[in-house]
Amino acid sequence: MRHVAIIGSGPAGCYLADQLLRVVPQASVDILEKLPVPFGLIRYGVAPDHQSTKLVSRVFDRVLGRETVGFFGNVEVGRDVRLAELMDLYNAVVLATGAERDRRLGTSGEELPGVIGSGAFVNWYNGYPDAQAPAVNGVRSAVIIGNGNVAIDVARILAKGPDEFAGSDLSTEVLHWLKSQPLETIRVVGRRGASDAKFTDHELAELGTLRRAQPLVSDATNLTGDSAVVKTLRGFRDGTHHDQPIAISFHFHLVPSAFVGDGRLCAVQFRNADGVTVELPAELAVTCIGYESVAICGVAPAKGVFANQDGRIDERLYVVGWAKRGPSGTIPTNRVEAQQLAQKIAREVGDDQRPGGDGLRRLLKERGVSWVDYAGWRRIDAAELAGVGAERSRVKLDSIEEMLDVAASGQLKAV
Ligand code: FAD
Ligand code: NAP
Repeated sequence: MRHVAIIGSGPAGCYLADQLLRVVPQASVDILEKLPVPFGLIRYGVAPDHQSTKLVSRVFDRVLGRETVGFFGNVEVGRDVRLAELMDLYNAVVLATGAERDRRLGTSGEELPGVIGSGAFVNWYNGYPDAQAPAVNGVRSAVIIGNGNVAIDVARILAKGPDEFAGSDLSTEVLHWLKSQPLETIRVVGRRGASDAKFTDHELAELGTLRRAQPLVSDATNLTGDSAVVKTLRGFRDGTHHDQPIAISFHFHLVPSAFVGDGRLCAVQFRNADGVTVELPAELAVTCIGYESVAICGVAPAKGVFANQDGRIDERLYVVGWAKRGPSGTIPTNRVEAQQLAQKIAREVGDDQRPGGDGLRRLLKERGVSWVDYAGWRRIDAAELAGVGAERSRVKLDSIEEMLDVAASGQLKAV
């Protein structure tokens, strides 16, 4: 039997497990995940008001539940087990660890309270364990840097009123913070033109359907081109004003140059196409400029991704998903890539009698590492879904300790 370890339980890891078992039905696949809960950015990236997108986790759940798949939640490679140990135990090891670190702009003032990377901001509104709320209050103006779909998600979450989150899994703490900000303006700023924006039209158009916010483009000279995105932006410009209290305005050809403030952010400076400095007021700035992978047991990414040849890093060591290609592509992109990698692994990896999951369980027990198996995850899932209704689709546990308690017993500890 061929034993494969996949590190990371996001879309890339789950699709790969599924595809491997199609190509090599007699294989055994273990998925190691540093959090007690699976699914990576499906749970902690995809926006809480896009529950239909999160439904793909049901497909992944069925993969984790298969007899020949082992789930090892709460096991971080680098902390609990070393990559070299996994290479000894398994016939092949695959990094599906995503790209978790926010890219930084490297401009002055980036450390000011009020400046936050999209990874940190999205983690917080998605209930990532122990994630912190933005370190500011009284936000009237927000600046969002970047012209991708994450920027749109962030603009929409800031712009929506509490009643527009019905059916989401947004926590009451996050709702409370959002509700308490006296927001008037959200500025979405791109360093290139509208025709270069990476938004998809469907996501952009959704901003035109919000109840308390209106998208606007004030400078028509920027709206050249004929793409669906440019047409939608033109529609925003021509749209009638409905007196919504929040304006979402789009700005192009502005390159960020500094965050300004004394003790907390008060403005963001940009250079325009003529080299002139433009200053936009802001108490909150969210940089939505992409992510990079982090090193794992001495295997270091170069320019944010792990160097590889069609998914192969070294003999018996592979990479898939955002860790392989960088932080771009939607959930289905990972499926196509997983299909290709599964076939490659089937061709290249033999069965040289390794212990696989039995060996990993022995090692973790010796080390006193307690892991969350599939049954434990099901208990967490059941606890989060217990008693939810039309208002809230899930009440996420947001501390590791709570998750481990529930995984072990199925019950939340009484406080
Ligand atoms: P991830 O989903 O990041 O999974 C990586 C996993 O590896 C994580 O669970 C992590 O905890 C684990 N891990 C990392 N290091 C270790 C370690 N050392 N040991 C053990 N485990 C480890 N796509 C869409 O199609 N629709 C959307 O609406 C959408 N929304 C998005 C919103 C945001 C904010 C972002 C950032 C992306 C969004 N995407 C969306 C894109 C989609 O989420 C990605 O294509 C996909 O998640 C990448 O999958 P992955 O498995 O490579 O990485
Ligand atoms: P993205 O689409 O690559 O957008 C990143 C943006 O940041 C680009 O506009 C880029 O500009 C800008 N940028 C990068 N470096 C910059 C710098 N130094 N200064 C100023 N701007 C900078 O990435 P993303 O928005 O993080 O999304 C990641 C992936 O997830 C995408 O594939 C996206 O489609 C997917 N996603 C999908 C959904 C959905 O389907 N609903 C939701 C969220 C995310 P340039 O173009 O000039 O480089």
